[in-house]
Amino acid sequence: MPAYVDDIRVIREENPFESMMSRFDHAAQLLELDPSLYKVLRVPNREITIYIPVYMEDGRIEVFTGYRVQHNFARGPAKGGIRFAPDVTLDEVRALAAWMTWKCAVVNIPFGGAKGGVICDPFHMSQIELERMTRRYTAELIDFIGPERDVPAPDMNTNEQTMAWIMDTYSMHARHTVTAAVTGKPIDLSGSRGRREATGRGLLFVIDQAVKKLDMNVRETRVAVQGSGNVGGTAARLMHESGYQIVAISDIHGGIYNPGGINVPEALDYLTKNKSFEKYPGAEPVSNHELLEVDCEILLPAATENQITSKNADKIKCRILAEGANGPTTANADRILEQKGVFVIPDILANAGGVTCSYFEWVQDRMGYFWKEDMVNERLQDIMVAAFDDVCKYAESHHVNMRVASYMLAIDRVAYVTRLRGIYA
Ligand code: NAD
Repeated sequence: MPAYVDDIRVIREENPFESMMSRFDHAAQLLELDPSLYKVLRVPNREITIYIPVYMEDGRIEVFTGYRVQHNFARGPAKGGIRFAPDVTLDEVRALAAWMTWKCAVVNIPFGGAKGGVICDPFHMSQIELERMTRRYTAELIDFIGPERDVPAPDMNTNEQTMAWIMDTYSMHARHTVTAAVTGKPIDLSGSRGRREATGRGLLFVIDQAVKKLDMNVRETRVAVQGSGNVGGTAARLMHESGYQIVAISDIHGGIYNPGGINVPEALDYLTKNKSFEKYPGAEPVSNHELLEVDCEILLPAATENQITSKNADKIKCRILAEGANGPTTANADRILEQKGVFVIPDILANAGGVTCSYFEWVQDRMGYFWKEDMVNERLQDIMVAAFDDVCKYAESHHVNMRVASYMLAIDRVAYVTRLRGIYA
């Protein structure tokens, strides 16, 4: 028995880093990963904490805390989003950074993993305050990011505008325009066509594969979507267009449920106009908690972490759980879902369409030649379908579920190149 097995601990269920590590430990154990490599891969490469002073509009100076965790560079520059939220923690950013390493390896793109976060309340900050905070955060990271080092992207509460500020700040320091320094930029600033929809579209591609694999019929497949932002909103719209029946959708304030199906474009327009689904006609209100337990064939959590836990996993009714969000399911819920026979398309596979298209954006920026949207979507489909097949094959040959298989595949790929590169001393 390898030495590291002793190290498997009882985890605090809602700590995303501990959830990630317990899955990592389990997969490493099944892979019989060399204990020396295990020691290297279980820790991030670098963690940076930044205190960001910002002149607020009322003349005060506020100091925000931000992080960038660079988990692994073995397969290429680190890659990962930046989120702005009041409840960001270093452990959350650590988990998200590691998930990026595993995700890029699952879809076999030449990146490592990183993630950033700033503790702030973006909904109570003006545009200029957000811009100043973003630029100062970028300036503090200037020696650690860049096209060959670490390439940020959007995540919760950051968007194309945030990426434009980061690109501009980085370029001002470099003294020339460096478009490949971030991805998820506006198309007019060397962004990629299809990037905005890529995570939702990638979800559609892998869900289509799972539906085929399980002999289900698209038109008879009911879907509940938690979250209606970039990931949830886009996935719901594209799935609706493909013939799936979206029976529930929500945002942070709550959701709507109609067992006969929701007209998704109408519901999303309503949300844009009214800033909430409240009083949406033609559907009954549901809480975010209730939404997870509605009758459906596919549950698509696309909001935030720790939504499916040991407390509610036995009440989930879906046949397929497609994880749009990062870490929506805790490690303790995994066993319950497996016993119930739920087919899980794990986050590091399901939502990898975003980083895959970010890879395309980075490639296009470095070539200075931009692809048509059809080409982006076709290449995205190729990569997502290949990754789904790779994970299925791994699951079958190792007699493990899709979650364990995706971790094993990712760790195997990262361990392989780490061994090839060796340890610089
Ligand atoms: P977003 O900010 O565009 O949308 C988030 C959605 O979730 C909104 O509808 C919001 O109202 C809702 N929400 C937020 N907190 C919630 C809570 N506590 N309970 C219920 N609903 C809540 O963000 P996004 O880009 O759609 O990201 C959603 C998830 O997908 C995150 O976990 C993110 O890390 C992950 N993800 C995003 C991308 C991407 O390309 N944007 C790629 C991979 C993974």
